[in-house]
Amino acid sequence: MIRLYNTAGRRKEEFVPQQPTRVTMYCCGPTVYNYAHIGNLRTYIFEDLLARTIRLHYPLVHVMNVTDVGHLVSDGDEGEDKMELGAAREGKSAWDIAKFYEQKFWQDYDALHCTRPTVISRATEHIAQMIDLVKTLEEKGYTYRTSDGIYYDTSKFERYGALVGRAHLDGLQGGARVEMSGEKRNPTDFALWKFSPKDKKRQMEWDSPWGVGFPGWHIECSAMAMKYLGHTLDIHCGGIDHVMIHHTNEIAQSEAATGKKYVNYWVHGEFLILRSGKMSKSGGTFVTVDVLREKGYEPLAYRYLCLGAHYRTQLEFSYESLDSAAKSLKNLRSAVKQLGAEQQLTPNVQAWKDKFIAAMEDDLNAPKALALVWEVLRSADLTAAEKRACVAFADTILALDLLVETERPRAEIPTEVQALLDERAAARKAKDWKKSDELRDAILHAGYVVKDTPKGQEVTKK
Ligand code: AMP
Ligand code: ZN
Repeated sequence: MIRLYNTAGRRKEEFVPQQPTRVTMYCCGPTVYNYAHIGNLRTYIFEDLLARTIRLHYPLVHVMNVTDVGHLVSDGDEGEDKMELGAAREGKSAWDIAKFYEQKFWQDYDALHCTRPTVISRATEHIAQMIDLVKTLEEKGYTYRTSDGIYYDTSKFERYGALVGRAHLDGLQGGARVEMSGEKRNPTDFALWKFSPKDKKRQMEWDSPWGVGFPGWHIECSAMAMKYLGHTLDIHCGGIDHVMIHHTNEIAQSEAATGKKYVNYWVHGEFLILRSGKMSKSGGTFVTVDVLREKGYEPLAYRYLCLGAHYRTQLEFSYESLDSAAKSLKNLRSAVKQLGAEQQLTPNVQAWKDKFIAAMEDDLNAPKALALVWEVLRSADLTAAEKRACVAFADTILALDLLVETERPRAEIPTEVQALLDERAAARKAKDWKKSDELRDAILHAGYVVKDTPKGQEVTKK
């Protein structure tokens, strides 16, 4: 039985999907105007643990959006669009910025062994669905027009703010009131569609029944989530910062439009913080996977660090803690190596697997699951082959390449990369070094690094 902490209701609940044959999960994806920092990636790691745990029991449809337009500098509706800011910063078009940082995002995501979503949906490719949703809200009387856009009137939605709770909402309204722009009717009202400024041509803009402009960030997620997953989702995830505004607004729009409950389980991950405070993309004080690599850490050391803290506790990042995670991971792998290559499935292994699964099912208790792996390695009651079977299973969830020292998981290499490798092996046999180098570059371009060893080519993920 899977139990998850549901932000709506603030307690752990048994997870019961609407249909056991198709669990639906939507995760708020990256805003692609800059590199993802390791804080963002902590959230994707916890979502990956959730996806892997769900998949132990159910088929999962996992949708993630890519916010490539409409996310303004403040989560309220003030300031510039982050994409246009990124474009100005780098002297490129907003479209090129989106393409570049999205591609980089997936590289980091893969390097941390997060499983790819079933559907990746880019906001700019779903403008029609967003317009339709705004039209529905307009027909139902939830919208009003100001000089800069079409807004959602939160006073018309009785349950507004239920996700955060009344007390928090009062605080939110107080805060929002301070920066409330003149034409908003209520401090918590938010833009569904923003008009392009009259004096400046935006790079990303579309026609709409209300005028040329672009969608608000919140409507993007509602429109895309419901397009792929229907009116009611089983699970919606994101970082804890989204509870207050983004997810509160998603509920308001979606439920007002459909008259149905939008999400059954809201699951939020706590922040990664720095001793000096928040890690933020816009503030520029951020650590990326590439920074970690430059400092000599493998990305999975960071995954190990994240697994050592429960997803609902804040995690303070430091290089000392990353050092210790990297060391533990290395020790873990060499302990696994000592076990030899044989695996044996026995009732003992099954009993251990049950304990491991129970830890993950208990609101994703990865620290406990990790501790169980150490425990099994130290156990005097299991044979080496039994221990190896336990670790092999654990790694289907932990995804830390625990068996890597003894066998490279070849299956992970995509077939097109394998084809390049085979071609390169043939070129080297024929002593065609130029072709061999070209193929090495092509393999690198596809995200893999190939090394020549006495035993032949060895390939690792970039
Ligand atoms: P963004 O790319 O800013 O839209 O954020 C992508 C995801 O990262 C969202 O789910 C955020 O809630 C999450 N996030 C942002 N900052 C942090 C952080 N410091 N720690 C953990 N998650 C974060
Ligand atoms: Zn979202």
